[in-house]
Amino acid sequence: MFVSSRKNFDDVKYRNEETRKRILVTGGAGFVGSHLVDKLMRDGHEVIALDNYFTGRRKNVEHWIGHPNFELVHHDVVMPYFVEVDQIYHLASPASPPHYMYNPVKTIKTNTLGTINMLGLAKRVKATVLLASTSEIYGDPEVHPQPESYWGHVNTIGPRSCYDEGKRVAESLMVAYNKQEKVNIRIARIFNTFGSRMHMNDGRVVSNFIIQAIQGKPITQSPDPNPIEHLWQELKKRTGGIPTRNADEKFAILQKEWCKIDQRTIDRLIASMLNRCREIYGNGEQTRSFQYVDDLVDGLIALMNSNYSMPVNLGNPEEYTIKQFAEVIRDLVESNSEIVMKDAVEDDPKQRKPNITVAAQKIGWKPKISMRDGLMKTIDYFRDEIQKNKKRSIR
Ligand code: NAD
Ligand code: UDP
Repeated sequence: MFVSSRKNFDDVKYRNEETRKRILVTGGAGFVGSHLVDKLMRDGHEVIALDNYFTGRRKNVEHWIGHPNFELVHHDVVMPYFVEVDQIYHLASPASPPHYMYNPVKTIKTNTLGTINMLGLAKRVKATVLLASTSEIYGDPEVHPQPESYWGHVNTIGPRSCYDEGKRVAESLMVAYNKQEKVNIRIARIFNTFGSRMHMNDGRVVSNFIIQAIQGKPITQSPDPNPIEHLWQELKKRTGGIPTRNADEKFAILQKEWCKIDQRTIDRLIASMLNRCREIYGNGEQTRSFQYVDDLVDGLIALMNSNYSMPVNLGNPEEYTIKQFAEVIRDLVESNSEIVMKDAVEDDPKQRKPNITVAAQKIGWKPKISMRDGLMKTIDYFRDEIQKNKKRSIR
């Protein structure tokens, strides 16, 4: 069984003041951030995890609360933050397409203003700052696999641009502060990463497919074209039917009746609506390369502690089409889920695979965990989460 929280500080290494660092992790309560916090804490450093809880959760790091080396700070990186630290891992930003598209203006502010604030902080306290950049800066790449020297192919006005261009500006800011202000910088271009603590409603392909397979649902079901209609049908089941004439009337009744439904039921309805929106987008021939989160964390730390200030790809070059990936997950879960195709989403990159030569040569890093091994651990985690949610909804 997967255990996400524990109050056992036994495996924390002791460090004296000379080797112990003070480290700020922005986005520290998120999926990757919380695993990074775990590793830095176990290595005996002082860690400040900063988060605005947009997609992160306190429970991802609550097992460290009470440890004298740990501090959890509720803060938005768009606002300046003042602290004395030696290193800054700047991870704060939504990463899943539905999350970063939810409020594109905020995504841009987080990646630009947030990065300026962290660079300003690094300049003031002379800290080294590492940016969690992304393979998305390559856009829909015309070069395959992607080396760091490739400049990318990004649509500046497409639905992904708030994230892609936000991260591209963040990289430019890093380089400008390095040249002009002599800030010590590291740039990690992270490729698709998965593992425990991914949000149940993360919306990315790994969590979507695993949850569908565990629940025995079709892995690619057409979405409900009209969420209001879906909620309406659910309400109708509960009330035995309310006579209505048009959509406006339905909406008005829904708003009125909604207040009478308890929060747990609302959460369940919204979750079931989201489930119905999960599917393979396009013909499934688009490719991705998936790395397990522990490998990424090792790579981030190796990069931070290197002396290399140019961008470095961190990813697992094992490449799959999304169709193959759906089959692998269905087999590993031993599920009978059907696999169905759906219309392509706008600007979906057709291929993605890292060239990791620079990582090997400059920071001595390469991934150690195969996609299948990582998936088995992640499937255990999601099974456990689904079980916990079931228990919560029965109580
Ligand atoms: P995540 O959504 O789980 O974590 C992001 C964290 O940042 C969350 O805890 C969120 O609440 C926090 N956050 C967002 N906006 C903030 C703000 N304005 N102020 C403070 N905190 C804020 O995502 P993740 O997968 O853990 O990604 C972490 C970083 O790695 C992101 O910068 C992302 O762009 C980058 N990255 C991730 C992947 C991946 O596959 N997971 C791939 C490429 C890049
Ligand atoms: N995808 C899919 N079904 C889903 C979610 C995603 O077919 O339920 C596809 C998506 O179109 C993309 C790939 O899976 O081609 C990876 O998507 P994800 O959102 O995980 O991350 P991306 O690499 O696009 O940022």
